[in-house]
Amino acid sequence: MSEIRQGSVKQITSHSNPIVKEIKGLVAQRKHRSQSGLFVAEGLKLATDALAAGWGVRYLALGTEARDNPVAQKAAATAKARGALILEVSTAVMSAMTRKDNPQMVVGVYEQRMLSAKDIHPSGAALWVALDRVRDPGNLGTIIRTVDAVGGAGVMLVGDCTDPFAVEAVRATMGSLFHVPLAKISKDEFKALAGKWPGTVAATHLKGSVDYRSPDYTDPVLLVMGNEQQGLEDDMAAACSTLIRIPQAGQADSLNLAVATGIALYEIRRKHLEL
Ligand code: SAM
Repeated sequence: MSEIRQGSVKQITSHSNPIVKEIKGLVAQRKHRSQSGLFVAEGLKLATDALAAGWGVRYLALGTEARDNPVAQKAAATAKARGALILEVSTAVMSAMTRKDNPQMVVGVYEQRMLSAKDIHPSGAALWVALDRVRDPGNLGTIIRTVDAVGGAGVMLVGDCTDPFAVEAVRATMGSLFHVPLAKISKDEFKALAGKWPGTVAATHLKGSVDYRSPDYTDPVLLVMGNEQQGLEDDMAAACSTLIRIPQAGQADSLNLAVATGIALYEIRRKHLEL
């Protein structure tokens, strides 16, 4: 694609265009996202969120409806000024790129951001969430959105987690992906961080003996959540200062991971949140 300059506009009507193929690859395969460091986010709201938060943008594809939309045109002008290639595409091409019958009017390709353990310096009222091997992209996206809603500092992805830059995860964040820092860390790095954490390190656990409403959570708080199938690994649980449980009635074995995270987060942040 050396003949195409970034910061310019290109019209695309063919499904076999190399940029269309590149975007389809980013939607379909983690391998392509990891190798390129890029990801796809659908929709005008996510484009305006990404641009306002200063994320790097490689391509901004505009469908036919975006041509008369002033917000979309403004996003395109901002992206172009930052060096993005603006793609004017047909609805059919937009559908093919995103594998959706009713595609959004704007689709962006952005540069991934990922922190590591050395970037995490908890202080003040910071609230981090650590996820042990989260598997479901919808759960991950929903948790990122909820962490944003409670003013959390970030989310640590411990061990082999689902890709936060998968289209399903990005979709579920509803734009919060662009506001919540993410860190990829190993289990050993988690244990080291938990060991020197200055505030409460609370793990939710089905064998926890502490009602999640009773601790006096000391800031900064680290909330730790287990894997959807296997729960939290024993050695990770041992690295936490308290194991909290959300009481249940009825026959459900457990709560959904994202629901349990939301319930715990709102209790932990109770004193920081008001209408
Ligand atoms: N079979 C798994 C187990 O034995 O832990 C169930 C995991 S549950 C679907 C996923 C995660 O959500 C758990 O590891 C825990 O972090 C949290 N969770 C779900 N329900 C909970 C509850 N009632 N109390 C505390 N944590 C809960």
